[in-house]
Amino acid sequence: MAKYIFVTGGVTSSLGKGIIAASLAKLLQARGLKVTIQKFDPYINIDPGTMNPYEHGECYVTEDGAETDLDLGHYERFLNIFTSQANNVTTGRIYQTVINKEREGAYLGKTVQVVPHITDEIKRRMLQLGKGSEFDIVITEIGGTVGDIESLPFVEAVRQLQWELPEEDTLVIHLTLIPYLKAAKELKTKPTQHSVKMLSQEGVHPDILVCRTEKELTPELRRKIALFCNVKLEAVIEAADAQTIYEVPLLMMREKLDIISMKKLKIENTKEPELSKWKEFLDKLKYPKYRVTIGLIGKYLELQDAYKSILESFIHAGAMNECQVQIVNIHSEFITDVNVTEKLSGLDGLLVAPGFGHRGVEGKIVAVKYARENGLPFFGICLGMQMAVIEFARNVLGLKNAHSTEMDPHTTEPVIDLMEEQNAVTIKGGTMRLGSYPCTIKENSLAETIYGTRSINERHRHRWEFNNKYLEQFENAGMVASGKNPGTDLVEIIELPKHPFFIGVQYHPELKSTVESPQPIFVHFIKAARAYAEKKAETKSPLLQSEMN
Ligand code: GLN
Repeated sequence: MAKYIFVTGGVTSSLGKGIIAASLAKLLQARGLKVTIQKFDPYINIDPGTMNPYEHGECYVTEDGAETDLDLGHYERFLNIFTSQANNVTTGRIYQTVINKEREGAYLGKTVQVVPHITDEIKRRMLQLGKGSEFDIVITEIGGTVGDIESLPFVEAVRQLQWELPEEDTLVIHLTLIPYLKAAKELKTKPTQHSVKMLSQEGVHPDILVCRTEKELTPELRRKIALFCNVKLEAVIEAADAQTIYEVPLLMMREKLDIISMKKLKIENTKEPELSKWKEFLDKLKYPKYRVTIGLIGKYLELQDAYKSILESFIHAGAMNECQVQIVNIHSEFITDVNVTEKLSGLDGLLVAPGFGHRGVEGKIVAVKYARENGLPFFGICLGMQMAVIEFARNVLGLKNAHSTEMDPHTTEPVIDLMEEQNAVTIKGGTMRLGSYPCTIKENSLAETIYGTRSINERHRHRWEFNNKYLEQFENAGMVASGKNPGTDLVEIIELPKHPFFIGVQYHPELKSTVESPQPIFVHFIKAARAYAEKKAETKSPLLQSEMN
């Protein structure tokens, strides 16, 4: 039987519960324990798949094709393990299960209520991953902030589990904020006291308080927090602002979060955390030797969370290349033939991001053209690849009306078209081509050099596809389909062998990049961008040169 750690949040949202949960998980994993993390979200949507990125940030897709909260991306990046549908549960999903059971008559005529039926279903799912022997520890992050109406059933479920399970099998960590009042020149503990009080009123008392703070917590302040919140002094953990999220496991180790957690859970005899690979990565990240500038062409740029996995993949790939990756956000809606050179000439690489719908696509196509014609390293993901296909069709094959039927349903040259099985789909949620699919790579292609193998699996989230009716025409003109699904022949990768680095992928490679296993396309893209920057500077000191650029 696994042990269960619950992470709640107080005072405000956006305190970084996901990062704290992932950091603790990392430390416990580094001690040899088998750990997983799950996220319980209090909203009514079944999953975030139907939400606008502005609303929710990126929708993270797991191997098994679940559309999930972006925190699952952090869990995978930190732990280097796969998560699944079971790792993300929403209020909507809980209610859907309970209501379906009610329709089946499973409640035998009883009145169906929040307590016990909804809370029972929450508890069942909280315990699910801990059944069997796969994990020693299951960490459950409860989304939202304590005191929210919608998170009440989740807190109640935690209360009941604490009562039902042996004392040493559960642990509650409350993440809170200790704000600094500039005028008073003081850190203030009152919001934390209130938040703990509120949680206690709901029947759950935290064992550990992780306190987000801009300033150091003095011993007196720690005592005060411990006394008024009724936790052990050693259980007041300082979580200072970090330079990078990847430093947080080490900060938490310094604060002994892992040791205090293990004490309550009565876990003994683990080894010291083995974090040498992690530290090596951090060193490279913090002290880069080179720098490249990558243009991220997208349309949800106001919200950085919309491209979370891409940005993190660049961090992993940058460290691997001992290279600082400076991202320049370029709004695709504002790129035109007239300003494209001005906007893109300072770059060492161009990434055209995934996306949906019509807005901003013409700017993306103009940007691809610039990269193709100027030998600028190019990487297109999903919609980004589709734009590269359309650009090639229009400007190289001369198919002026080439388009995707997503944007122009009546185009006479549908080089990107809806997949057969998508034609009949009317329900939006969970109906795209989702999750991991195999891809076979062409011999002697750029993709083969990148992956070092000819058989890969990557994750998908899309409806439209390269239209194979045009493939011969494309290949004759120099755009090669270097990766295909072995069963269906769907094109997964396109490249231009004559270009220094031009690759587009129908899948989402960014979803599988982790600290310990950076995604190879990103690694090679940064390498190509470095080469491009060096050539541009024609000097042995690229860092200095790119500073002058
Ligand atoms: N809108 C495109 C499709 O559905 C691309 C999706 C994406 O970029 N994730 O095929």
